[in-house]
Amino acid sequence: MNDQTQRPSGFNCPVCAGFIPVSMQQLLVMERFICPHCTLEIRLNRADSQKAIDALQKVQEAEKAVSRASVFNG
Ligand SMILES: [Zn+2]
Repeated sequence: MNDQTQRPSGFNCPVCAGFIPVSMQQLLVMERFICPHCTLEIRLNRADSQKAIDALQKVQEAEKAVSRASVFNG
């Protein structure tokens, strides 16, 4: 399967399943996001929001795939 379309980083809302575009930098520095589709507030407090953590892990898996595709040494 060729599934290597360039999509913006982000994750799907656990409530409405809408896509929430979030850069990796935002994931690192921001504590919460608002779903643009249903205005759900997603907090990144680990104990607080396991769904958000699951979403983050999916993003990180995607990031691994991206870094495999484009190798940067440095
Ligand atoms: Zn939503």
